[in-house]
Amino acid sequence: MVTWNVSYQGITRNFQDTRNFIVFTMNPPWESCARLFPHPPKQVVQVRDLEAETLKEYVKTASALKVDCVVGVGGGTAIDAAKFVALKAGLKFIAIPTIVSVNAYVTPRAAVRTEGIVNYIGDKFADLIVIDYSIVKTAPARLNTAGVGDIYSTRIGLLDWKLANEKYGDQYDADTVKEGERIVARLLSQAQEIRSVSDIGIRTLVELHQEITSLQRPYTVQRVKSGKSQFHGLWPEEGSEHVYFYSLEKQTGRTFTHGEIVGTGTVISTYLHKRDTGSVIRDLDAFGLMFRPRDTNVSQSEFGKAIYNMQKVALAMGLDYPVLNQQIEKRQVADLWRLLS
Ligand SMILES: [Zn+2]
Repeated sequence: MVTWNVSYQGITRNFQDTRNFIVFTMNPPWESCARLFPHPPKQVVQVRDLEAETLKEYVKTASALKVDCVVGVGGGTAIDAAKFVALKAGLKFIAIPTIVSVNAYVTPRAAVRTEGIVNYIGDKFADLIVIDYSIVKTAPARLNTAGVGDIYSTRIGLLDWKLANEKYGDQYDADTVKEGERIVARLLSQAQEIRSVSDIGIRTLVELHQEITSLQRPYTVQRVKSGKSQFHGLWPEEGSEHVYFYSLEKQTGRTFTHGEIVGTGTVISTYLHKRDTGSVIRDLDAFGLMFRPRDTNVSQSEFGKAIYNMQKVALAMGLDYPVLNQQIEKRQVADLWRLLS
């Protein structure tokens, strides 16, 4: 079990005594957060990207300032930049997710990119997570509802795990499966609160991001340490649905809201598993998730290319999902496009 130190008391309350810190952020949300800090940061870095070269430069900046704390304010990119810097410079790390869009603030891994290929570098958990409801609510609602993507993905992760158990002999743990199912059920039970981005909805996402990360922890540890694992996926949270996201970013060279594209991937993987896509689409709509290609400006040809390349992209990342080990036909992609239109 991993436990996090999470405060729901906001930025001002939590930063009364913190003075020697650097902030990694983006704009928005920095403009609306700056006034909430009782003491100004030593430096504010607007994060450009998570390319390995950029991050190296950020580590130098933080080390030269001799700060004792690195604060990430924003979504996944800002948080991951701060996480990486804190890890490399050996400093305290405070995560202030201004949207609960991705689980970056609870995971110990930073998604570093080298020429577009994502590599997860770890291991650094936040020493403190600060939730400021007023800030989270100022973000567009869809960026918060996107937070369901990395929890609901467990539904597919469990299917992929079962198949990897049958095909590759991946060790399967019944208690973890049960816990994963319970987490998905709790998520579904709070769909209305999540959709309306209420305090309860935000807190539900934050708590479930922690629970699912804790559950996934034993399966990521080996991979982080050695780059290899006896497991073929990141059970139980990540399955083949995530590969659509990685593949789409690679094919298009654009960045997307993680949870929304993972949502699209959830429907694609459900289809490839020959399960009921209708119930998945209904669930995602209940959360208010914007997962259809037209919501995310993905064209039909980009959609198809991303799907055809899923297997290649997964293998390049050291992930091997048996469900992707099939010839995907034009007819199937056309079917999926129709389902998602
Ligand atoms: Zn994810």
